[in-house]
Amino acid sequence: MQTIHEHFIQTAEVMQGKTLFERPGQPDISFAQMRGSVEALAGALTALGVAPGDRVAVQVEKSPEAIALYLATLQVGGIFLPLNPAYTGAEIDYFIGDAAPRLFVCDPGQQSAHAHRAGPSLALETLGADGQGSLMDRAAGAVPREDAHPCGPDDRAAILYTSGTTGRSKGAVLTHGNLTSNTEALLDCWQFTANDRLIHALPIFHTHGLFVAANMALVAGATMIFLTKFDADQAIDLMERATVLMGVPTFYTRLLKSPRLDGQTTAGMRLFVSGSAPLLAEDHRAFSDRTGQMILERYGMTETCMIASNPYEGARIAGAVGMALPGIAIRITDRESGASLPEGEIGLIEVKGPNVFEGYWNMPEKTASEFREDGYFITGDLGTIAEDGYLRIVGRDKDLVISGGYNVYPKEVEEAIDALPGVLESAVIGLPHADLGEAVTAIVVPKGGPLEAEAIRAALEGTLARFKQPKRVIVAEALPRNVMGKVQKAELRKTHAGLYD
Ligand code: ATP
Ligand code: MG
Repeated sequence: MQTIHEHFIQTAEVMQGKTLFERPGQPDISFAQMRGSVEALAGALTALGVAPGDRVAVQVEKSPEAIALYLATLQVGGIFLPLNPAYTGAEIDYFIGDAAPRLFVCDPGQQSAHAHRAGPSLALETLGADGQGSLMDRAAGAVPREDAHPCGPDDRAAILYTSGTTGRSKGAVLTHGNLTSNTEALLDCWQFTANDRLIHALPIFHTHGLFVAANMALVAGATMIFLTKFDADQAIDLMERATVLMGVPTFYTRLLKSPRLDGQTTAGMRLFVSGSAPLLAEDHRAFSDRTGQMILERYGMTETCMIASNPYEGARIAGAVGMALPGIAIRITDRESGASLPEGEIGLIEVKGPNVFEGYWNMPEKTASEFREDGYFITGDLGTIAEDGYLRIVGRDKDLVISGGYNVYPKEVEEAIDALPGVLESAVIGLPHADLGEAVTAIVVPKGGPLEAEAIRAALEGTLARFKQPKRVIVAEALPRNVMGKVQKAELRKTHAGLYD
């Protein structure tokens, strides 16, 4: 097995002066230049005392240098640990305390705020959005390192914290084998090659932007059009010179708002990928009506990298996430007994394969409770595999509503609501209810015009069984979302906790 770093070096050897990073208004960076930065940074890391197995925590803005730092960390056998720049003091205290890194790299503007952390066991360096700061200065003066620490498939490559949608973020320990196997599977499935030009507008502290998008380009020898944030009009302008977009569902919702999105502006693109959160079925259809192209939806999580994908060749189905990637097994089990369920039934999605992480950092009990004896990882998502072989996610186990003893799968209710005229989107949650245990409650966002809560309740009477119908409907301007576009249902439950008191 080759590590992602070894793959990259091999690719850079072939690509040489070809552009790896293209950025609006800034000079291009070639594969050869990137290789130079990686080797210089590896030298700097070694000089800073980063040894194999040491954590390198990185809380910086998105930049090519940050990607170089990631590769350099893999090169020296370190464990890369990226953090969301939005985290503040107390949150960083938790992550640093939990991961005990050897090196913490922060934005130059945050240096004084973090100065107290530096000491004999933790080095503090800075890296800014434009590559400025002490780290690259140090790299410029270091003896470049060309050799790589030998790493096997079971050696640790990264700790990635989960998005914290259902509770406190957990550090998922990923191995070189996890990253390499997943990148290879995705390159193959999506026919991604050196000819591709990827619009990269995702953050790089999550699996989607780092281990899907960036790894694929680094290994394949593709060019990344590297953007610090997603702007629909800018993306449409760039599509002429690009071939692939990897996005979260909100990218597509925003693209659809632009009247410029059509068959012509997207003609040069060969692939639109969506993941990290459910894509609205209506957006899927509207996108193909407007552009003639079907969005390819895939499913993954921090702990497992990518699990399933709609086919590149073959039907891409709205509301489905496709089939397991090569080498990965998926099964659906009963949430009470753990027994395997037959086709068409809803249960826990469990997964096994070279993509599945080692465990949660510093959480042996949590790790043990999420794995079955035969090695399957319990994802915490509920889903079903239909006769057509496609996996469909119906929501998270933690979001399942149990009302009057009946299981209500939020997605089914959300789809019924979303289909009503005037509704943009909705979130269905369970709230404490004296009589029912939990009461089905819907938060509904109108398309723009007026929307009556009672009218929605009345309209659902014909479509949903009584126990699935929302007891109350709350009309809201928007749903709370995090940077990855995930609806924050835990926050909604907190906000409306006393609704039925
Ligand atoms: P936490 O585990 O901290 O609560 P999180 O699960 O949101 O946060 P991630 O690992 O970033 O953290 O997200 C993985 C989850 O995202 C999956 O378990 C699944 O619920 C959801 N997800 C990813 N892709 C899709 C998709 N295509 N459709 C529906 N849900 C998806
Ligand atoms: Mg999760």
